[in-house]
Amino acid sequence: MKHFGNVVNLFQHLTRSVIEEGMTALDATVGKGNDTLFLSNLVGKAGKVYAFDIQKEAIELSKVKLQAEALFSDNVTFILDSHANLSFYVREATVDVAVFNLGYLPSINKRVTTSAESTLIAIKQAMKALKSGGVLFVLCYRGHEAGAEEYDVLKPFFEAVSQVYYDVFYSEFVNQKNNPPVMWVIEKK
Ligand code: SAH
Repeated sequence: MKHFGNVVNLFQHLTRSVIEEGMTALDATVGKGNDTLFLSNLVGKAGKVYAFDIQKEAIELSKVKLQAEALFSDNVTFILDSHANLSFYVREATVDVAVFNLGYLPSINKRVTTSAESTLIAIKQAMKALKSGGVLFVLCYRGHEAGAEEYDVLKPFFEAVSQVYYDVFYSEFVNQKNNPPVMWVIEKK
């Protein structure tokens, strides 16, 4: 396995170093369920994963995936709603690890993509949902139009977050061509 090379590997490496059994995680963009499965296995039987997607198909596919591959079958709560409503489902200061793997469902439906306005609303709520010491990962795919808009909105937002309350780290592969994906990591103090 490559250690880095893309932002998903980087997300997985960093998550393994902070997550423990029994923790609460949040997957704001279920998609094909890869991140949901990854988080479910790490938080274990006593843990919990909130998993959001607006596409029924994504949630159905991911349920099947979890049934086949998850180590613990019942620690994921799937929520068929926009992550812009996450504060209705997830209370403040309750989440240890959260991820937004933005964009569209590769090879299934490119029309339904995350969009700058709701992504920003949701990220603000997710930052409030973090516990002290909790970490939020935001993976942004700048190579398509909606992703470029998200990047343009998120970059100034994250750069203006007060360091009194959060540390924000940014990573980018500087030698990859064609606007490679980037990742922000936000840790609540
Ligand atoms: N880019 C990732 C996959 C992203 S999938 C990769 O390469 O693996 C993104 C998912 O977000 C899609 O399944 C889509 O339905 C979902 N989504 C789009 N807008 C959303 C919203 N407002 N709330 C929750 N999920 C949303």
